[in-house]
Amino acid sequence: MTKRAVYAGSFDPITNGHLDIVRRALAVFDEVVVAVAHNSQKDSALFTAAERVDMIRDALADVAERVQVDSFEGLLVHYCRRMDARVIIRGLRAVSDFEYEFQMAMMNHHLNQEIETVFMIAGEAYFYTASRLVKEVVSLGGDVSALVPRGVSHRLVQKLAATRAKLT
Ligand code: ADP
Repeated sequence: MTKRAVYAGSFDPITNGHLDIVRRALAVFDEVVVAVAHNSQKDSALFTAAERVDMIRDALADVAERVQVDSFEGLLVHYCRRMDARVIIRGLRAVSDFEYEFQMAMMNHHLNQEIETVFMIAGEAYFYTASRLVKEVVSLGGDVSALVPRGVSHRLVQKLAATRAKLT
């Protein structure tokens, strides 16, 4: 039986911290589905779901035979059932992630007892990498090329310039 796990998140955009978690998960599971969670009614993300999927595919091209990249709306446990996956992967950085992640894991378990959440600890190099911070740094003119896959920093600069142009 194929051991398939779903690694879900906003991935707005994918960072090297997220990629570290995917690669750790691939050491344990046969297949990993990286799933961009989005809400077409009220998505406040910088990138569209399709753009986020595109950037993730590019960054994981070398392991494409064991990684599916997808997007979904609605409950994660429903998505896992559709994908025939019984494991949800989440990444943990500092203690500050814990409370939110703990709540989500408990709720998902309440909704479907057959699905387990497995936490993977971020590599220490990525402990302070967060999509939100990366966007903030780029919007203020900083360089994040060591924190995100190649291609993502370029797209961040383009996207934030376009967003600024729209506002002025
Ligand atoms: P959310 O689903 O809360 O919007 P993200 O898309 O930012 O979160 O991240 C998805 C998952 O990856 C979460 O479990 C988050 O804690 C984890 N994660 C985010 N950044 C890192 C990182 N630098 N290292 C390890 N895990 C991370």
